[in-house]
Amino acid sequence: MKFISTRDVTYQQDFETALFHGLAPDGGLYIPSEFPHLSTDILQAKEITLPQLGYAIMAAFLAEIPDTDLQRIINNALNFAIPLVPLYDNLFLLEVFHGPTLAFKDVGARFMANMLSYFLLKKQARVSILVATSGDTGSAIAHAFHRIPAVDVYILYPSKKITRLQEQQMTTLGDNIHAIEILGTFDDCQKLVKSALLDTALKEKKSLSTANSINISRLLPQIIYHSFGMVQLKQMGNDLAPLLSVPSGNFGNLTSALYAERIGFPVKHIIAATNANAIVPHYLKTGVFTPSPSKQTFSNAMDVGNPSNFERLLAFYHNDYQQISTAITGVSISDDATLAEIQTTYKKTGYILDPHAAVGVAAAKLASQNKTDPIIVTATAHPAKFPEVIRRALQFDIDIPESLQAAMDKPKQAILMEPNMDTFRQLLLNKSDVRA
Ligand SMILES: *Cc1c(COP(=O)(O)O)cnc(C)c1O
Repeated sequence: MKFISTRDVTYQQDFETALFHGLAPDGGLYIPSEFPHLSTDILQAKEITLPQLGYAIMAAFLAEIPDTDLQRIINNALNFAIPLVPLYDNLFLLEVFHGPTLAFKDVGARFMANMLSYFLLKKQARVSILVATSGDTGSAIAHAFHRIPAVDVYILYPSKKITRLQEQQMTTLGDNIHAIEILGTFDDCQKLVKSALLDTALKEKKSLSTANSINISRLLPQIIYHSFGMVQLKQMGNDLAPLLSVPSGNFGNLTSALYAERIGFPVKHIIAATNANAIVPHYLKTGVFTPSPSKQTFSNAMDVGNPSNFERLLAFYHNDYQQISTAITGVSISDDATLAEIQTTYKKTGYILDPHAAVGVAAAKLASQNKTDPIIVTATAHPAKFPEVIRRALQFDIDIPESLQAAMDKPKQAILMEPNMDTFRQLLLNKSDVRA
């Protein structure tokens, strides 16, 4: 299978090249050149595990990777449960937050880390991954790449502008994970990473890359959890095609839901659930795409004013607004409605929704017209990651899971740095690679 640029269908690359490029040279995003159709034994399977399904789906896209290698990569990447949990009569939560950093970004980050390492070991090469983070991406990347052979990771984060929990999650691992605390803003971090990737003096000495969310290797494995949600629905005896309500920011989560439908899983309808950053819902209603500065909300991992996967959405529907707006309904949920949903759901069921899943549930209730169709909402994060929002909604402190508490208790290791390119270049050149 080849991967093409959203801006040029004639530009074709294999998966390995697309993985190492991140962005296509023309500035477009890599997308599959075609979509495989899964066999009915997989689509109708009553007894299939998450790794088995993951393997069947990824093998259909990545035939170039030998079976045993792909199997091992998937087993390493998906080493946690992704259960479908009934919430209300016909509304189900797909809990994609049982990975090491308790958010669904673990799926893409872990798959990418294992893929990258696989190709590097084959080539006997090493790479240094640079990441700028405003919080959550950094911890998912840090955990995914920790002790991954042939990869060193440098995570730049703005000093005092992320939560203590987020900071502890990326500064306490050590080994091949280097946290760099920048005395500046997230934009300063991003500028340093961009400058380093273009720096000729650095390029001569080091192989540098990045692990940002537009990488196709983070998008593809997300097809697996959407599919596994639908498999579990069938296993529960529900044979109706579900609506999928997908909490969205950069729209990778939603794009991979569309891909799950395209490879054969029956989907009734897709709901794009956003917070006040309603760029895509606005586009779906009006046909006008107006990116704007992001607004801060309680579901802050979805505070995105210019969704990077919008280009993939358009490409998927060949720029046909009629098709997109028929297939997807956009719903924007305010902070007040998010809090209200956390309260209502807790009162009715005892379940504590994280603010992102709450946006998904509230949107699902607004958008579903008939009460018999099942709805699957992607629950993208564990509520304990957002204790302030939960306290505000429910007036109590949520229990912190053991894995998070363990990170809170470990000593922080970070290099404090001014946002200065010369200092950063020296740091990268002087740092001897850590052998993992
Ligand atoms: C990143 C994130 C989202 C949004 O996913 P996109 O692929 O960017 O649309 C939703 N919830 C949580 C918890 C996230 O971290």
